[in-house]
Amino acid sequence: MKISNQDILNALKHVDDPDLKKDLVTLNMIRDLIVDGNKVNFSVYLTTPACPMKDFIENACRNAIAHFVSEDLEVKIKMTAEVIGHSKSEILPRVKNIIAIASGKGGVGKSTVAAGLALALSESGAATGLMDADIYGPSIPLLFGAVGEPVEMEVVDGKELMKPITRNGIKLFSIGFLSSEKEAVVWRGPMVSSALKQFINGVNWGDLDYLVIDLPPGTGDVQLTIVQNLPLTGAVIVSTPQKLAIADARRACAMFKIQGVDTPILGMVENMSYFSPEDAPDKKYRIFGSGGVQTLANEFGSEVLGEIPIKEQMVEDGDNAGLGKDGHFEIFKDIAGRLVRQIAIQQAGIKTL
Ligand code: ADP
Repeated sequence: MKISNQDILNALKHVDDPDLKKDLVTLNMIRDLIVDGNKVNFSVYLTTPACPMKDFIENACRNAIAHFVSEDLEVKIKMTAEVIGHSKSEILPRVKNIIAIASGKGGVGKSTVAAGLALALSESGAATGLMDADIYGPSIPLLFGAVGEPVEMEVVDGKELMKPITRNGIKLFSIGFLSSEKEAVVWRGPMVSSALKQFINGVNWGDLDYLVIDLPPGTGDVQLTIVQNLPLTGAVIVSTPQKLAIADARRACAMFKIQGVDTPILGMVENMSYFSPEDAPDKKYRIFGSGGVQTLANEFGSEVLGEIPIKEQMVEDGDNAGLGKDGHFEIFKDIAGRLVRQIAIQQAGIKTL
């Protein structure tokens, strides 16, 4: 029996992307197909290298070909990715996806989550940047061992731009690099809005798949200026389980829904969800309460991307630029996997509108 490209494509039409709920052929995810005798080669272009469904999709392709075409083929599949994104704006047009990490309150772990997500995305192979816009307490320099890093300038297309520094493969820039004690005053004065705009436009990010923004906590004018001036793909809300934290997180969610901002809430992260003692790792003590973040996610038609336990080691790692080292990194990979799925669903929705 002679096998044609069409036979293979017909078989692969039976494989759906589990999130996008359409088949891989229709989604243009099957490319470079070559059939030569009983040898079949093709690539599957996932929407992101962090796709948690990679193995599942590859197996589904193999099963479909065996079932609908033949079991006696030598099938080689290259699982690769092309991050989809939409730059609707002149601002940062070479950045495919901009994700704001927000919280209602300070100290809930927003920066830790922003850093953890950036690390997980970068490790998956995506070109990743991290912008620390938390004017009230920029902690990204500490988290990446870059406190007091001097700012270098470079000229791009005749424009002088600030150069991000690279740590763990991530391009990062912090408002903290600019705020010496003397300069910090601008971030509290009446010029804050124009200073922020300069900051947003003044960094040479280059080509990125994902730019993660660590926003200042809360929902004031400063936060609004940032979210209104950036073409955001979506927001992630970080909260701890306490009722008071959730009340503030609700305000943060509402900020993304006001007219003129209209930003999708891609998901929520519950931080400091529970405590598991070392001698009883299967026990989860929910000392700050439970259920509130899930309720909030339901209210805003969003989902909980993950729960992060309270871990003493996380404080130490944060203080010593070691966030990616420990076992808790698996949690960030998991959360990043769910986040990129939400982005893919969002993008697919935008495309079909
Ligand atoms: P925010 O950005 O919301 O102000 P940070 O990310 O700076 O919060 O975290 C505040 C402090 O809490 C830091 O010292 C950080 O290491 C610690 N922290 C964050 N998440 C956890 C956690 N899950 N377990 C233990 N400590 C945490």
